[in-house]
Amino acid sequence: VAPPAFKDEFGGTLGATCIPVFLPLTVLYLLCVCRSPVASVLQWPPVLPPTAQLWDPLAPVLILGWMALQSFFYLLPMGKVRRAGMVLKDGSRLKYPINGFYALCSTAVLLTLSLWLGMPLGYLFELLLPLAVCAIGVSFLLSLYLYICSFWAPHHALAQGGNTGNPLYDFFMGRELNPRIGSFDLKYFCELRPGLIGWVVINFGMLMKEVELRDSASLAMILVNGFQLLYVADALWNEEAVLTTMDIVHDGFGFMLVFGDLAWVPFTYSLQAAFLVVHPQSLSPLGATAIVTLNGAGYYIFRKSNSQKNQFRRDPTHPSVANLETIATATGKRLLVSGWWGLVRHPNYLGDLLMALAWSLPCGFNHLLPYFYVVYFTVLLIHREARDERHCRAKYGLAWDSYCRRVPYRIFPYIY
Ligand code: NDP
Repeated sequence: VAPPAFKDEFGGTLGATCIPVFLPLTVLYLLCVCRSPVASVLQWPPVLPPTAQLWDPLAPVLILGWMALQSFFYLLPMGKVRRAGMVLKDGSRLKYPINGFYALCSTAVLLTLSLWLGMPLGYLFELLLPLAVCAIGVSFLLSLYLYICSFWAPHHALAQGGNTGNPLYDFFMGRELNPRIGSFDLKYFCELRPGLIGWVVINFGMLMKEVELRDSASLAMILVNGFQLLYVADALWNEEAVLTTMDIVHDGFGFMLVFGDLAWVPFTYSLQAAFLVVHPQSLSPLGATAIVTLNGAGYYIFRKSNSQKNQFRRDPTHPSVANLETIATATGKRLLVSGWWGLVRHPNYLGDLLMALAWSLPCGFNHLLPYFYVVYFTVLLIHREARDERHCRAKYGLAWDSYCRRVPYRIFPYIY
């Protein structure tokens, strides 16, 4: 049963008009605040950078060079050769290279080499604003390209959500589900490579800036770098799992995902590291142990629950999931009602949010800015949960209702 198309996601036309203006400005604003001595998000009038700080001719060279380098790694015959994704509307299955982890390792080798050659990686701190401006520019251009090209795509290749005929809404949501240039899948590439690996490279640049300024990296900076590297390495190690996510299976590739992947993730997820460059924090061994434990607990819940569902969807007879209680649905697919998915309806979001908190705590309690990620991510996951819930109710009908009765809490046990 195909879920119906939704025409009012993200606030419909109004949301699709305002978000592409508001979110890029938010990225630039947060970066400015983060570098200011006060670092107050609520400061009025807001911190505005001189225009000269927004542009550096090196920025477009680095952004385009970075995209080219990651595309090169994507195309290299490393890792598993190619794996089929989900079954599409016309019954076909696309193939994808599973070599993201190798791309991360190759990037690490190149970074080590550039350090050895004496490249000033700490200069990324000075370049953050111009790089963000260029990433935003690239997001707009790529989204426009995708929107125009989608009119040549066959009907079965279009996404359900981004084909309302309203150009602004369709540009935002994305008309085509899996746009490709030959066998190069643009959405799959952008989801996990340039932005995600770019995020940890920016973090590392902030660490090097700290070493330049204070001769060594602080414990807080090492924790933030370590936690976020673990998260990115995990995503790339389990790259195949992205093939079953809402982003790949359901959403078209439009401004929402392009901007999220290329600009929002690398430049707002690295705010804690950038904040620590200007606002160093000292951490007690006890505080650090508590934060490491929180991150470990979050990671455990996140990884175990995601792996359990992925394993169940891939092979429900596998010994690790065969004994779990399930309910049947009219589509032939079953839903887990015990194990992690019997605790709350989105245990993976719970783990993700615990990790998000652990990433902010090393930045202390004197500023709101480093907690931006936890607040934003909570809103994002609550909104995402509601979207997924609508899709699942449309897909599974009564079976979904009985799952909700069996597992009443969505993300936080006994709270929400
Ligand atoms: P999920 O991995 O949570 O998948 C949701 C789908 O799982 C549903 O549509 C349904 O699909 C299936 N499902 C739901 N309940 C059950 C059940 N009880 N039994 C079996 N299958 C079930 O979706 P996301 O793509 O939102 O998240 C993937 C991961 O990515 C999460 O860990 C999330 O935290 C993370 N994430 C991180 C972001 C970031 O910016 N850092 C952004 C977004 C997500 P079906 O039945 O069709 O299989």
